[in-house]
Amino acid sequence: MKKTTFIKEDFKKFEDNKNVMMQLFGITCSVCGIDEIAYTAINAPKTIGQIAHEAYEENPDISDEELDKLIESPIKLWQEVDDYNSSIGVPTFVCDNCYDQLLNNEIHISNIGQEEEE
Ligand SMILES: [Zn+2]
Repeated sequence: MKKTTFIKEDFKKFEDNKNVMMQLFGITCSVCGIDEIAYTAINAPKTIGQIAHEAYEENPDISDEELDKLIESPIKLWQEVDDYNSSIGVPTFVCDNCYDQLLNNEIHISNIGQEEEE
């Protein structure tokens, strides 16, 4: 079953310190493709930027290597969530504009991701 209507509670503010995720994966709005993400699906894990930020706070001398290790499984988690969301028709990343339009039912998501079953 694909999700077709959206409410506020389907999303939360996307807070990725220093746009780390954008730099790491070049994430874009799942709906329109612009690179200004304002919201993320409610089932999304903590952002990589937040994780990195907390790690720095805890240990300002953390090495890049340690940091890479630290974000390894969260990155996997994000990929899983994104795959799952595309399978149920939920955009993982949305910009301000698409967020409003989704909530107002002005745009409909059809086949996010590349799956073309049926
Ligand atoms: Zn958008």
